[in-house]
Order: sequence, then C-alpha cells, then structure tokens
Amino acid sequence: MKNALVARILDEIADLLELEGVPFKPRAYRRAARAIADTPTPIEELVADGRVRDLPGVGEAIAEKVTEIVHTGKLRYHEELKAKLPVDLHALTQVDGVGPKTAKLLFEALGVRTLDDLAQAAQAGRIRTVKGLGDKVEEKIVRGLAEVRRTERRILLGRALPLARELCRQLLGTGLFHRVEPAGSLRRGKETVGDLDLLAVSDRAEEAAAAFCALPAVEEVLAQGPKRASVRLADGVQCDLRIVPHASFGAALQYFTGSKEHNIRLRERAVGRGLKLSEYGLFQADGSVVAGEDEAGVYAALGLPFIPPELREDRGEIAAAETGSLPTLVEVDAVTCDLHVHTDASDGEMSLEEAVEAARARGITCIAITDHLKFAAAIPGLSPDDLRRQIEAVRRLEERIPGFTILTGVEANIARDGTVDVPRDLLPELDLVIASVHTHLRLGRAEMTERLARAVEDEGVDVLGHPTGRLIGERPPYDADWDEVFRRAAKSGTALEVNAHPQRLDLSGELVRRALGFGVKVAIGTDAHVAGQFAHLELGVVTARRGWAAEGDVLNTLPPTALRAALKRG
Ligand SMILES: [Zn+2]
Ligand SMILES: [Zn+2]
Repeated sequence: MKNALVARILDEIADLLELEGVPFKPRAYRRAARAIADTPTPIEELVADGRVRDLPGVGEAIAEKVTEIVHTGKLRYHEELKAKLPVDLHALTQVDGVGPKTAKLLFEALGVRTLDDLAQAAQAGRIRTVKGLGDKVEEKIVRGLAEVRRTERRILLGRALPLARELCRQLLGTGLFHRVEPAGSLRRGKETVGDLDLLAVSDRAEEAAAAFCALPAVEEVLAQGPKRASVRLADGVQCDLRIVPHASFGAALQYFTGSKEHNIRLRERAVGRGLKLSEYGLFQADGSVVAGEDEAGVYAALGLPFIPPELREDRGEIAAAETGSLPTLVEVDAVTCDLHVHTDASDGEMSLEEAVEAARARGITCIAITDHLKFAAAIPGLSPDDLRRQIEAVRRLEERIPGFTILTGVEANIARDGTVDVPRDLLPELDLVIASVHTHLRLGRAEMTERLARAVEDEGVDVLGHPTGRLIGERPPYDADWDEVFRRAAKSGTALEVNAHPQRLDLSGELVRRALGFGVKVAIGTDAHVAGQFAHLELGVVTARRGWAAEGDVLNTLPPTALRAALKRG
C-alpha cells in the first residue's frame, strides 16, 4: 500500500507552500496527509473505489493529486514546487531543530540537500556560521541527527503490526499454509521493528514460498528458496518468511521471537539440564526430541511457565518465571476504554458523535473526551464557555447510547512553571483532567523535573499526558529525573499516561516498569484525532505489557463506575 508515500508527498507540499508564504493551503495538505497515513485501508483501494474524498480533509483538488500519485508514483505539482528547493525536505525535517525554513537556509548557505550533507555540515561546525542559526541550533541538530540515526531503517510498531497481519491474512488465503505467524521484535511489541519476520508451516513449501514472493505488496524478491524467502515491500521494508516443519514450529517461534539475550539465557538453562535448545527443538544429548511443536511446551520442558513475548528482553523475566513471580499481564481484550480523545472542538477531525461511533465500531465501550483548552493562539482549543457547553453535550449524548460511557475531560497545558491552566470552577464537572507539556520542551533537567512534579501534584490533575514528550525517530524525551516525577505522582495519586500514538508510545515500556515500581497507575489513551486512530489502543496495551503491567495497574480496565471512583473527583 502506498499510504506512506502519498502522505509524505502531501506533507512535503505543505512544507514547500509554507516556505512560499502561501496561507491556509499548507494546513489542508497536512490534514489530508494525516488522514491518509492513519487510515488502515490501502489508498489504492480508496482511489479505485472513488472513495478518497470520504477521508477527512480531502477535497476535490487533493483527491485528484492523490489519484495521480497512486497511478504514477509521483506528482507533477510536487515536482514543480520542488524544483525551487531541490532538497530532501522530508528527511531533513525529521531532524529536531530543522523546519522547512531552516532547511532552506541550510541549502542556500551550505548547499545541504540530504541527511548526509546535514551530518557533514554539523560535524564540521558549519551550521553555527549560518546567519540566523548559531551554536544553539547546531547543538539541537546534532542531537536530532543522533535520534534519527538511532531509528533509521526501522518502522513503527503501529505500521508494522497491521502490515504483518495483512500479509499473514493474504498468505493464509492462498490455502497453501497451515499456519503463518509474525515472530521477531514485532511479536515482542518493540516500538520500532527492523525487518518483518514471518514463520509458517506448509506441506507445499515451494509453492508457498512462491506465493509469498507474488504477494501484491512485494516490490522486489531478494531471495527465494523452498524453506525461506526474502522480499522488499513498498517503502523499503524487508520481510522474511521461513517455512518450518510442523514438529518444530514452537521451537522456531521461540527462537525467531528472541530477543537474542533472552535466548542465550534460555539455551544456558537447557545446557544446565543436559539438553540442547535450537530453532529445531529441545533435544536430549542422544538427539531424542523433548519439545518443539509447541512454544509453551519448550518453556515447560525447561521448568518454566510460558513467558509472554513482550517480556523476553533479559530483564529478569526468567528469574521471575522460575519463582512464580511473573505478573499476569494486562490483556489487549481487557482494555475497551480509551482515556484520551480529541474532537473537532479542538484540533481533532471528528465531531463528538463521530468519535463515539468510530470508537464503538472498534469495540470500545468507554471514551474520555479530552480536547485541548485554549492555550496558544496557533492551536485550536476550548474556552471555559466552550467546555461548559461540551460537557452538557457529552451528558446528553451519553444518555442516548446505552452501554456506552463518555467521560467528561480536558487536556490542559502545563505552563513553564508547572501550573495547569484548567478552569477551577469547572473541575467538579470533569471526570478526567489530563495535563501535558506542549510548550517549552527544552528546559534543563532540574527545571523540567520540578515542572512535571508540580503538575502531577495539582489536585485537579488525574493523568500526566505523554509524559516524556518523545516522538520516536524525531524528538528525544525531555531531560528529567523520572524517578522523582513518578514518586511524587504516586504520592498524589496521579496516573501516568501510556499515550498509544505509534510515534509516541509514551511512557515507553521501560519507564512504565519503573513507574509501576513507585506504585502509580497507568492510563492508556490513543490521543485519537481521527477515526482510524482508535485502532492504536492495542499499541498502548502492548507497551504497558512490555512494562510488566498487570490488569490492576491499568485504570482503563476498571468498569465505568469504578473508573470514575478511582479518579480524583470520583
Ligand atoms: Zn497533548
Ligand atoms: Zn492529546
């Protein structure tokens, strides 16, 4: 599917138009780009069915351009705009500190066109010499480059997961496979994934491998044999398929799920018991099979309960399994409540009714409406009066939908000094107040720590939203003493968010685990701005699981009455 490509071109058009000082249009292109990137439906399908205009923000003019990109892989209008600034704007603006304007300055002064050019200029200390940039900007760009490099060539879990599922579905549809399942870091729920690893069982391996290489998403076949095939999909993602015998599927799934470190510990354990563990099975010294068909059977034969893939990072999971102290992780199905949703009352695309409808269509039974309050001229937000009206509208709507809960809420901004801008007289009417940082992202460690800690200590605040502010591959987390923030959040009964947006997953699994250690609860929210983003709820649950979260650690798992009671004004 070409959604990412189309979104990238539209985004770049927005950047280029912005540089030319064109009003309004850039925002329209960005909205369309976001809608196309977020829809789970392949854009080719929408074009073929004439449904592109159903997407929010896509009018006649943009629909025509989308159609041209889908048909030709490029867009004349885009190329014309680009001729004036022939740089890889998309790659350059991934770097924190480089917006379209800075990219233009860097091109004009230093001839920077690509990420490599940018890295060279930064290394040579030439960025600071550009008029209008300086030392601070150069430092920021150096940090930003490191972050981009760290995640380069990796794709977000939120993209890898639906992609892998779709490939599995298509493969099973050929009738040539008994089983096909994703393995690798995708199965462990890592926030970014390098290659996609699929594991399969088939009686007709050769035909099965050929069918894999012939999938519509395949752009290039890298290798093809009877047991293994490797392809490159659109956007450069590599996908490997391994076909294994039924009898060793469990051992292979265990082996190819990893992590490498977890597997080393497990092999050592096998050796300690006079056994040998490999991708083919668990064997006695004389070569007789102990286990292999079934993954749980492999763990059981090593004297361990099944260890969920999300925990297999060699962070004490084997010791915990041995002593029976593994947590019973929160299940994806146990979370049917979304605690962070925007509507068109602030910067979302959905009306209140559309948000509820989209959530219900996903099997979600409870959402919190958490629009932004007005805090900056450039960002749409609610005035206290707007909020009052919205609360009434939410209550009226909730009454009309039996079995569905809508919590009244807001996402308030945390000012530089840690104060939270929520209208205090409306607090009794609000079920849920999220407080998040949206401005002054780069403070010193001490100041940022104190700011966040003050916010969580605010009696009106229930949840600290996207706590570290990271954008995977784009922006590193804020510099703060997280233990101090967690300690003070625990003391004041404020939950920490696991923001489920694929580029955020914030808190990360590692920080969730640290936070749980202080006794805080987590609140999972999609931060949905468009209907397709409700699908991200699962990513938040997977991230919480990577943080060893049990059902009782996650506010979302409570039934509505208990949930309201668990919040500060309940
Ligand atoms: Zn926010
Ligand atoms: Zn938000």
